[in-house]
Amino acid sequence: EQEDLRAFRDKESITRDGVRIEVCANIGSVADADSALAQGADGVGLMRSEFLYLDAAELPDEAAQVDAYSQVLRRMNGKRVVVRTLDIGADKVPSYLPLPHEENSALGCRAIRLCFAQPDVFRTQLRALLRASVYGTLAIMFPMISKLEELHRAKAVLKQCQEELRQEGIPFSQNIEVGMMVEVPSAAIMSDRFAAEVDFFSIGTNDLTQYTLAADRLNEKVAALFDYGDEAVLRLVAHTAKSAAAHGIWCGICGESAAKTELLPFYAKAGIRELSVVPGKVLEIRRAVTQLDTTAL
Ligand code: PEP
Ligand code: MG
Repeated sequence: EQEDLRAFRDKESITRDGVRIEVCANIGSVADADSALAQGADGVGLMRSEFLYLDAAELPDEAAQVDAYSQVLRRMNGKRVVVRTLDIGADKVPSYLPLPHEENSALGCRAIRLCFAQPDVFRTQLRALLRASVYGTLAIMFPMISKLEELHRAKAVLKQCQEELRQEGIPFSQNIEVGMMVEVPSAAIMSDRFAAEVDFFSIGTNDLTQYTLAADRLNEKVAALFDYGDEAVLRLVAHTAKSAAAHGIWCGICGESAAKTELLPFYAKAGIRELSVVPGKVLEIRRAVTQLDTTAL
């Protein structure tokens, strides 16, 4: 079985009828990039940047972040690396960022909301990402976008950082894709509007399922309700993929369900063209992609 799978390491991620569905890796550390490469991932579909903050004793400065991002970009050797900007919140709080306790942390000041509340933290990360972008193929992704205004604001801060670097004479890539996580139902519902303003969507089915079904992803008592295959969730996935296709942008999935082979036919038919999974699942999913015939769906 392991041996069989290894044969898919250098295969292309293409279905029997020639549809390319990239199989990328989710990573949560610099070292994970090596696992992604070792498994033959087509790129990094989600780099959770939280580790840089949660594993540190103090706020990581710009230089430390440039170092981490550029190491990953270098290791990936030109393959696309989607870095998600900071997604921490009331339950995931580093000691040096005193944030008030929130009654309902999943619905509170997390991710992009926190970044807007802490503009220097956000700016430092974006500047570091831009500076690292010369070392590979970087894409920047904003988490927990729920309103168009938030996307506008995030893009405006990014633009400001680009302008600053330009004035400082610091180089950065001109070809950075800018995208967003679709993990809040409002973003999926409004995906036709969002699609006009980003280069890609990556659907975060972990949170999208939790918020759509109002079932805490970590609460065992409601685990039976939490279902990636629920029709309401699938409709949002399909609508999002359709919006992306209509605007000529790519749409992937980076939630755990990207590794559920039983959902692959639905995702492929809906127009999902990238799946990002834990490195250990890359080969299994690539095999499933190569065995799929989308004309038969
Ligand atoms: C998701 O919500 O599906 C996702 C990929 O992000 P995280 O699991 O880090 O919340
Ligand atoms: Mg999420």
